[in-house]
Amino acid sequence: MLIPIRCFSCGIVIADRWTKYKKLIQPKDEGGEGKSIEEALDEVKLTRYCCRRMFVSHVELIEEVAPFSTYRY
Ligand SMILES: [Zn+2]
Repeated sequence: MLIPIRCFSCGIVIADRWTKYKKLIQPKDEGGEGKSIEEALDEVKLTRYCCRRMFVSHVELIEEVAPFSTYRY
């Protein structure tokens, strides 16, 4: 869904780096920078492997789920 605000293991705030990370790994022909995941994680300064796994293992499903979350009366 959404990236968790903090790393589950060490508690450092990680969500603020998600947008930059996504832009870095996006292919160049789609407007990103086309970097590898390893380079992108280094650039957003996620060095611990507990924090890196939060980004690597994350599947962003918010766009698919959001249409079904309508206002309830
Ligand atoms: Zn961590």
